[in-house]
Amino acid sequence: MSRFLKEQYQAMEAYTPGEQPRDMQYIKLNTNESPYPPAPSVVEAMTGEQVELLRLYSDPTAKNLKEKLAGMYGVRPENVFVSNGSDEVLNFAFMAFGGQGVVFPDISYGFYEVFADLYAINAEKIPLEEDFSIDYHKYCGKNKLVVIANPNAPTGMTLPVEQIEEIVKSNPDAVVVIDEAYVDFGGETCLPLIRKYDNLLVTRTFSKSRCLAGGRLGYAFASPEIIADLEKIKYSTNPYNINRLTLLLGEKTVEAEGYYQEKCREIEETRAWTAAKLEKLGFTVLPSKANFIFVKTDKMDGGELYRTLKAKGILVRHFTNPRICQYNRVTIGTKAQMEAFVDTLKEVLL
Ligand code: PMP
Repeated sequence: MSRFLKEQYQAMEAYTPGEQPRDMQYIKLNTNESPYPPAPSVVEAMTGEQVELLRLYSDPTAKNLKEKLAGMYGVRPENVFVSNGSDEVLNFAFMAFGGQGVVFPDISYGFYEVFADLYAINAEKIPLEEDFSIDYHKYCGKNKLVVIANPNAPTGMTLPVEQIEEIVKSNPDAVVVIDEAYVDFGGETCLPLIRKYDNLLVTRTFSKSRCLAGGRLGYAFASPEIIADLEKIKYSTNPYNINRLTLLLGEKTVEAEGYYQEKCREIEETRAWTAAKLEKLGFTVLPSKANFIFVKTDKMDGGELYRTLKAKGILVRHFTNPRICQYNRVTIGTKAQMEAFVDTLKEVLL
């Protein structure tokens, strides 16, 4: 740390992304990326000509992409925001709407706490229930920024849309953010509620179900007023927040919806297959609607299992928080990757 850093940032702990090791080839089941490439039409869109066009700035209004997303999801372009990964729209939401404080579950996406720290927002962390579910009553009538991932991470567990509606309805003077990064793997979206409530912000990403984590593209839906606020923040920080190539690939991705639907169904099948195999091996597997499962075994400590798998070339995500340190979060890869994962588990546990 230099002596120039503002005092407010000195004690701040930054977000730690999942490992992206370069030392050897791993079966990478640690950061919830898709194991599949983008659709062929998306890959083909990346031409030398497009790279040459990088001399020009990208469209700060992201008009084409917003129109395509609006068309696909049956909303108006004024209801759509696009961002550099969904991390960026979450960042903007904390910056814009965290004035009265923020509330989120104690076990959820680790970045929420970092954003709260970054903007010195008072954060109330509500413990998940014993079974890792969310009791929606605890988020009602807070009238401060509410942030819930649905499905939640790292559990993969979901909250019914009727319960989300209760949360939104009971916090009329605050924004409720529903982070739907993982909704495409069997979850239920609360998107239709944006028509009824002007305080709901639904965030999404191309990083998981759209096989584009490295492209850094997120999006969100809300009332035109909330979107206008987010645009204000964007134009005050980085107007060209999404590069030209990613904007183009995003548009092509929306056009290839069928391909991605098919890949999501494959992930769901592989998830069911993997969960069944793990349960047979004696694992506890939380019920997941995401592209990962959260699992533990009595046969080996969570941290030790993580390290053992890593030594054998399989990366999973382990968290040191005492409440979940016996678990590991395992991204659903291809069937072949999951077979290798299950075989390795048998080798180290049986
Ligand atoms: N929300 C949740 C719950 C996540 O797990 C992630 C991925 N780490 C994100 C948002 C952000 O993803 P991205 O910035 O790649 O869209």
